[in-house]
Amino acid sequence: MRTDEPHPIRLQDYRPPDWLVDTVELDVSLDASATRVRASLLLRPNPKAAAPAPLVLDGDGLTLVALRLDGEPLASVHYVATPDRLSLAQPPQRPLRLEIETLVDPSANTQLMGLYRSGKTYCTQCEAEGFRRITYFPDRPDVMAVYTTRIEADITDAPVLLANGNLKEAGTLPSGKRHFAVWHDPFPKPAYLFALVGGTLAVVEDRFRTMSGRDVTLRIYVEPGKEDRCGYAMDSLKRAMRWDEQAFGREYDLDMFMIVAVSDFNMGAMENKGLNIFNDKYILASPETATDTDYASIEAIVAHEYFHNWTGNRITCRDWFQLCLKEGLTVFRDQEFTSDERSRPVERIKDVRGLRAHQCVEDAGPLAHPVRPTLYHEINNFYTTTVYEKGAEVVRMLQVLLGPQQFRQGMDLYFTRHDGEAATIEQFVQCFADAGGRDLSQFMLWYAQSGTPEIVATGSYDARAKTYRLDLAQTLPPTPGQPSKEPMVIPLVAGLVGPDGRDLPLQRADGAPLERGLLTLDRPAASYVFTGVEQRPVPSINRGFSAPVRLTVNVSDEDLRFLANHDSDPFNRWQAVHTLAMRLLVDSTEAIRRSEPPRQDPALVAAIKAVLTSRDLEPAFVAQVIALPSESDIAREIARDVNPDAVYAARQTLRQAIMTTLSKTLATTYQRLSSPEPYSPDADATGRRALKNTCLDLITTACDPSAIALAKRQYERADNMTDRMAALQALTLCDCTERTAALDDFYRRYSGDPLIVDKWLSLQAAIPEPATLERVKALTSHPAFSMANPNRVRALIGAFAMSNQTQSNRADGRGYDFIVDTVLAIDPKNPQLAARLLSALKSWRVLEPRRRSLARAALKRVAGTPSLSRDVGDIVQRALAES
Ligand SMILES: [Zn+2]
Repeated sequence: MRTDEPHPIRLQDYRPPDWLVDTVELDVSLDASATRVRASLLLRPNPKAAAPAPLVLDGDGLTLVALRLDGEPLASVHYVATPDRLSLAQPPQRPLRLEIETLVDPSANTQLMGLYRSGKTYCTQCEAEGFRRITYFPDRPDVMAVYTTRIEADITDAPVLLANGNLKEAGTLPSGKRHFAVWHDPFPKPAYLFALVGGTLAVVEDRFRTMSGRDVTLRIYVEPGKEDRCGYAMDSLKRAMRWDEQAFGREYDLDMFMIVAVSDFNMGAMENKGLNIFNDKYILASPETATDTDYASIEAIVAHEYFHNWTGNRITCRDWFQLCLKEGLTVFRDQEFTSDERSRPVERIKDVRGLRAHQCVEDAGPLAHPVRPTLYHEINNFYTTTVYEKGAEVVRMLQVLLGPQQFRQGMDLYFTRHDGEAATIEQFVQCFADAGGRDLSQFMLWYAQSGTPEIVATGSYDARAKTYRLDLAQTLPPTPGQPSKEPMVIPLVAGLVGPDGRDLPLQRADGAPLERGLLTLDRPAASYVFTGVEQRPVPSINRGFSAPVRLTVNVSDEDLRFLANHDSDPFNRWQAVHTLAMRLLVDSTEAIRRSEPPRQDPALVAAIKAVLTSRDLEPAFVAQVIALPSESDIAREIARDVNPDAVYAARQTLRQAIMTTLSKTLATTYQRLSSPEPYSPDADATGRRALKNTCLDLITTACDPSAIALAKRQYERADNMTDRMAALQALTLCDCTERTAALDDFYRRYSGDPLIVDKWLSLQAAIPEPATLERVKALTSHPAFSMANPNRVRALIGAFAMSNQTQSNRADGRGYDFIVDTVLAIDPKNPQLAARLLSALKSWRVLEPRRRSLARAALKRVAGTPSLSRDVGDIVQRALAES
C-alpha cells in the first residue's frame, strides 16, 4: 500500500522518456511466496530527451536482490534502490544492458496488481502500473519494447506456462520436477500489456483463418471441468475477428490468441498482447448457468478485448491522460460490433440507458472530469464511465459529423499513420480532420470540458409562410475545476414528422436540403428555418442520440405520444415514451413529498399498450419501451433535494397503474412469449425472453397470490438461468413464504458455483425493504462470501450500494455507515476495489438535507481515517471538495 503524500500528475508536465528500452528479457521462476524475477533490459538514451539524463526506473514494493550493468555487478555507490525506485545518477550515456533481480511474493499480493495468485493460478495484471510491482522499469506507456519471457515452475504446481506472443521453446529441466517455456512477442509494447500465467488449467482450442489466409490457433484456458462453458466465448471471439476484418480491415497478427479466465480479478478483462486475462464471469456460460445478460456481456467483452489488439496495443497511448484514446475508441468499436450482431436500435437504447445511468450521474457530481483529464492523483480512479462510455460517444460524434465513408477513411489513416506508436488524442482527431478536410479544433473541447451539455430546442410553425423555425441554445453547467465553458460542437440529427407519420423533406431557407438531417450547433445559440412545410410537423431531435446531451424540447405530451407511434427513428420512438413517463414520475415524486396524491396519466398507459400490442415491433424493443425509468434515472432527472423513498413510491404507483389497466394485455403477451423451444442465446430469442420477463415484473407488482404463483411456476419449470433468475427476482420483491423457499432452493441448487451464488447475493442486496441491511450484513459472514474476492464484494455490497436506492440511502444513515465500514475494511488489502465501492456515494450532494448531512458525515469519517490508500484518499477528497 502506498501511503505517501499524493502529488498530482499533470498532462502539461509531459516530457518524452529520458531512456528507451529496446528489448526486455524476463526470466521468471515461479514460487508461491518467493518468485524470482530476472529482467535484462537493453536501454539507450532517448535522442528526443535532454541529455545527459539519470536513469530512473519505477518500482512498487520491490526488493532488489542483484544488479548488473553490462554484465558486471554494479557497486552500491552507483545506484539507489528503494521499494519504489531504482536510480542511477550518472549512467553512461550510451546503449547499455541492465540486469535486475527482484523477489516477489504472489501469495501476499491482495491488491491483485502485478503478479498474484488467483486460487492456485499465477497471473498478472499490469495496467495501469502493475509491472513495476514485478521488476524495476520505466513503467509508462510510451516506452515500448520487444519482450522475451522465460517462465520456470514446478510441473505439478503450474503445468501450464503462458506469456505474450508466440511459444518459442519448452521443456523439462534435468531434475525432472521443474519445467520451462519461452515466449517471444515480436511487437513492441508498453509494460502494461505484459502478461504471464502459470497453473493447472484446461484448454479449449479452435482455429481461425484470417483474411490473408493465415491460420491462427485460438485457446481459452479455464479451471479444469469448466471447458464445456467456453463455447459462447469462443464463438464470440471468432465473430469479432471476422467483423474487425470486414468493418475496419484489421487482421490478427500473431500465430496464437489466448484467453485465460481467472476468478480473482479487479476488472472485467485485460487486453494483454496475445494473452487476454479475463474475470471468469465474462467467459463461462451455459444456458443453465448464465443469463441472456451474461451472454451479451461475454460477447461484448470478448470482442472489446480482442479489438484492443489494434486500438490499444498496436497503437497505444502516449501517457495515461490519453486513456480514452484506447478505451473510448474500443468501446465504440464493441458497440458497433454488437449492433451489427444484434438489433441496432435496441443496442443503442441500452447503451444510452447505461450512459445516462452512470456517466451522466458522474458528470453531474463531484467526481466529474473531462474525457481526457488533465490531472490525476491515482490513475486507477480514471477507469471511469466518462473515459469509456462518453469517450465512445465522442468517437461516435466524429462518425456523425463526417459520415460513415469519411469516418472510415479517418480510421484507416489512423491505423497506417500511427501503427507501432504511442499516440495522443490530437493525433487521432487530426486523422479525421485530414480525411474530412475540416477543422476539428473546436471539436477537441469534447475531450477537455466536463459536464453534460444542455440543449434547449424551441420549434414554431408558421402556417401562413409554410415555414418551421427551430431555435437551439446550448449551455454547459459548471463542473469541478471548470467554472465557465466554451460552446461545443454538437451534431444533432433531426427530422420533422408530418401528420401522416412520414418525415418531411428538410429544406433550408436557401433551398438547400439538409444533408443527413444533420444540424451542427457550434455557437451558444442558432436558428434554423425550414421552408415548404405544408402542415404543422412534430420535431424529432437528436435522433439515434447523435450527441450525448441533455435535451429539452417544447413538445406537448400529445406530440410525444404521436412520436411514440410514428417516429421513423426507433430511438426517438423509445425516447418519447421514456420522456412521457419521466414527466409523470417527476411530478408524482413531488406530489408524494407534499403528501398529495400522485398524478395519473391514462394516456401514457394507453401509449404503452399501443406499443405492447403492436405486432410490427421487435420484442426486444418493446421490452425497452415498457421498462420504466429506474429510480436512479428519476433521481438524476430531479437532480436536487432527492428523497429516494418518494422516488420509489412514485415509480411503484405508475407500475400499479400499468399493471391494473393492462393486466389482460400483459398476461396475453406473457403467455404468447412463453415458448417451449429449447434455449438459444441469439438476439431474437433473447428479445422474446426480455419482453416476457418485463411483463412478469409488471404482473407481480402488487404481489397478489396469482402473480406469485405465476412467478413460482416459472421459477420451478425454467430450463435456463434467464427465466429462473427473472422469476426469482420477481419473487424477491414480494415479502412472501415463496420468496424464502425459492431463495433457499436457488442456493441449494447452485452453491457449488460462485458465479451463480453472486446472482443470489445481488438479488438479496437489491430488495427495497428495511430488513435488507441486516440481511446483507449477515450475508458477509455466509460461507459463500469472501471480502478477498472482488466479484463477491461487488455482487453483495456493490449491488446494495449501487442498485438499492432506498436502502443504501436509508433515512437513518446506516446504509452509508455500512458502505463506509466496508470500504475501510477492504482498503488496506485492495485499494482499487475499495475506491470503486466508495464512489457509490458520489451523488450525495443531490440528496435531501437530512440524508445529505448523514452521507457527508460518513465521507468525513473516511477522510479522517489515517493511512488511507491513494485510491480511496483521492475519491474521498474529490467527493467532499467544495467546488
Ligand atoms: Zn478496454
